[in-house]
Formats: sequence, structure tokens, C-alpha cells
Amino acid sequence: MLDDMKHKTEQTSIKINIQERPLQAGLYLIGTPIGCLKDISLHALEIFASVDVVACEDTRITGKLLHHYGIQVKKIKYNDHSDTHIRSEILKRIEQGESVALCSDAGLPLIADPGYKLITDCRDKGFYITSIPGANAALTGLQLSGLPTDRFIFLGFLPTKKKARHDYLSQWKDTPVTQIYYETAQRIEETLHIIQDIMGDRPVVIARELTKLFEETLSGSAKDLLEQLHERPPLKGEVVLLLAGQDAKQDWSDIEITELLQHAINEKHLSLKDAVQAVMLQSGWSKKKVYEYALHIKNK
Ligand code: SAM
Repeated sequence: MLDDMKHKTEQTSIKINIQERPLQAGLYLIGTPIGCLKDISLHALEIFASVDVVACEDTRITGKLLHHYGIQVKKIKYNDHSDTHIRSEILKRIEQGESVALCSDAGLPLIADPGYKLITDCRDKGFYITSIPGANAALTGLQLSGLPTDRFIFLGFLPTKKKARHDYLSQWKDTPVTQIYYETAQRIEETLHIIQDIMGDRPVVIARELTKLFEETLSGSAKDLLEQLHERPPLKGEVVLLLAGQDAKQDWSDIEITELLQHAINEKHLSLKDAVQAVMLQSGWSKKKVYEYALHIKNK
């Protein structure tokens, strides 16, 4: 949802160029903010202001974004599950020379959002298609997580049914790379119990309300996180859930953990708390165990 911005703003006044010549006929995929309305590119605004029509999930939500920038354009509601006649209408418009923007309520269209069927149809017809990139919750969560970013896998929404969620997480538990899931705040505790059951003390990160007023990242083993959650009001808002890959849980020796901590504290000048956090995420050891080693180093 596009609200709860970190910094509330009045309507933003910037000069947006409307293309002097009509845009090339085709489909323009436009990335929109995941919370803070300012997280949109000038290119995206220019294309929104220049296309013949905007196909969006919810015309009110996209309308609010466009109103914020003073853009008036025809909007039609589209999602892949809508009657195929809306998709046919969009294809017909492009065939007749119109430019159509596709956006979702937030983030990148097609990424856990509608658009896949429309894209395949446009490709089949050989239409011009381009993307104007923008914010994405999975990658923003990954950046902030402290988990390895060199290799990762995006696994979409976790299933809603507990058994299916258990099976899905089990299916991916041995993957050696960072895993990224979309999950709801309401189900997060149940999901952490499942993770604890099947993956033990694997490092987990909850990235919540990204780019919004209550943005935060919580990290630790599933057990640590359950303890943290029990000490606060129920979690609300939108959530990206990240798990360290199986690689991160390789057997680190006592000496290696001590060296990692010494490096974090003495050379990177991290605080004790941050050093413990970093080493915990890197090694897959529990926070408690890493903390004991850190105290030992500090008290030497
Ligand atoms: N297309 C979007 C993207 O590119 O990120 C994702 C849309 S998907 C329908 C919505 C899910 O993305 C939410 O349920 C949540 O898991 C995640 N999400 C979206 N915005 C978020 C935010 N600001 N903070 C955390 N997670 C967010």
C-alpha cells in the first residue's frame, strides 16, 4: 500500500515532460513505489504522462500515485485473472497504435503481481515491450538483511495453508543461497515455528514496512525471532522473509568464530552488538553462542 511514507509530502511539484510525439505503440512496464511515493523515476512519470492508457490492478491506488504528481491519464483495471476481454482490449489498442502502461499497486509488475499473461500475448504478437524499472520489495529486503547477496533465490509468496507452507519450505531448505519469500505479518509466527522445526537455528530476517514510517529489519534464528515477537505487540504491515542458504550453516570452528569476531570488532570497528549480529548471520551460529565468544574476547 502506498501510504505511511517516511516523510509525508504534499503534492509533489516537478516538471514532467510529456513526449511531443506520440509514444511508440506497445506495452510499457512501469515500476512504482513500495511505500514512499517519492521512490519513482522521472522516466516512469514521463511515460505515465505520455501513454494513451494505464492498465493497473486498482485504479484508485494508481490514481492516488498519479494525482500526487499531477498526472491525468485514462486508467483501466487489469489483472491476469480478469475476463480475457480486457486483455483482448489492451492487445487491440496496441495493434491500433496505442501505447499502454502496465503497473501494479506497488513495486514491479509481474513480480508476484499481474502481467505475465499480457506479456506472453504481446510477445506472441511481436509488439514493442519495454520496462521502466523501479522499487521492488524482495531486493530492498535483501539489501537490508545482512545475508549474502552474491547469490539468492526469490521464491514468491509462501502458501497460505500450513501444511503446504511446511512442504514448500522443506523443498527449498537445502538450497545453498539466500532465500527470499513474501509473507504476511499475521502468519509470520506460525511460519517461524515451521522454519525452526525444519531448519533449526538457520539465520532468518524479517524485513517489514520497507520505505515506510515503521520500516525495520529483525534478525536472528527462528527461535530468537519468536522470542523477540512475544515481547511486542503483534506484527503488522507488509513483510519480506529471508533465510540464509544452507551454505551459511557450514561447520565453523571455535577459532574461526573468534577470528571473525576479532575482525569485526578490531578491524571493522563494529560495536559488540553489531559484530555479534554480523558473525551470527555469516556463520549460522545462534546469537547466544556468538555473544558468549564476543564477551570472552571483550573481557580478555
Ligand atoms: N510487485 C511487488 C514488488 O515488486 O515487490 C510485490 C507485490 S506482492 C503482491 C506484495 C507483497 O510484497 C507483500 O505481501 C509483501 O510480502 C511484499 N511487500 C510489498 N511492499 C512491501 C514493503 N513496503 N515492505 C515489505 N514487504 C513488502
